[in-house]
Amino acid sequence: MKITEHINKAKGKTLFSFEIVPPLKGQNIQKLYDNIDPLMEFNPPFIDVTTSREERVYIKKEGGLLEQKVTRMRPGTVGICASLMHKYDIDPVPHVLCGGFTKEETEYVLVDCHYLGIENVMALRGDAMKHESYFIPQKEGNNYASNLVSQINDLNQGKYLHEIIETTYNSNFCIGVAGYPEKHLESPSMASDLRKLKEKVDAGADYIVTQMFFDNKKYFDFVKAAKEIGIDVPIIPGIKPIAIKRHLNILPQVFRLNLPDMLVNEVEKCVDNKAIRQVGIEWAIAQSKELKGAGVPVVHYYSMGKSDNIKAIASQVF
Ligand code: FAD
Repeated sequence: MKITEHINKAKGKTLFSFEIVPPLKGQNIQKLYDNIDPLMEFNPPFIDVTTSREERVYIKKEGGLLEQKVTRMRPGTVGICASLMHKYDIDPVPHVLCGGFTKEETEYVLVDCHYLGIENVMALRGDAMKHESYFIPQKEGNNYASNLVSQINDLNQGKYLHEIIETTYNSNFCIGVAGYPEKHLESPSMASDLRKLKEKVDAGADYIVTQMFFDNKKYFDFVKAAKEIGIDVPIIPGIKPIAIKRHLNILPQVFRLNLPDMLVNEVEKCVDNKAIRQVGIEWAIAQSKELKGAGVPVVHYYSMGKSDNIKAIASQVF
């Protein structure tokens, strides 16, 4: 079922969902299941599966030489989606990226998703590769998420990249895109970022999932501003619980977001990571309860592969 149908079917009840990250190449998928199993009691209608950019790795060669290779360390997004459908009878949402994929390769991914019965995809540009200081589009790939949304939307209309294809049966993907309550880090202004978000919706996006935020006011202001410029699709808030002291620096550095002073103070008072995890859980519970009270369609959690803190939050909220 489409995410938008899940939301309509819930008739105003806030749903629970979360995102998982494929394991590193060579790891067992069982670890992933062990983290998903405890969250199934909260009836997530869908689970997002991220896609990672390729990265530079160095392989030791004879004589101490290092060979540089570019490889994807966490492949398997579509395969994991198929396994989630099979094991949990749930709607998976594969993340599809512009970065690192030609349009042709993207078409293959979408065709696979269509054959598997996957009805939802999240269309994202992707970040720069770790060794790059800014995003470099793939040659013959999509430059922005809005272009990717157009490609998916074209496929939904039966338009493939090559006109030689005769279509008798179209895909009908429900398309999610990213939104940034504190603006995207590269964007010159909030207003500009919102206009780009509107372009994604105009290109065919059906819903938005936000970047993490720690102050609900940012989300409420963002939703209001989005509505004011005519964005009328559901905007799902994304929540991540703080779990370690380093998050205080990493999250603002990587995502250019602000942490409320009260949260920073509470974390700084903690004597160990166990206490920090508890602060993070309590903060996320308070955020989630307020969002639920305001009638958001879904609260979506960034689990980062660990379910114990998400379970502690969900058991107090759902
Ligand atoms: P876009 O919407 O393309 O925007 C990127 C930047 O370009 C913005 O600053 C925007 O304002 C600007 N822009 C857009 N269109 C134009 C235009 N026409 N001209 C000029 N500027 C323009 N990353 C991953 O690698 N894998 C994942 O699985 C993943 N999942 C995510 C899930 C969520 C919910 C979120 C919020 C983010 C996720 N990301 C993921 C991170 C995301 O890829 C990055 O934030 C990336 O830098 C931007 O992606 P986007 O889709 O928002 O890009």
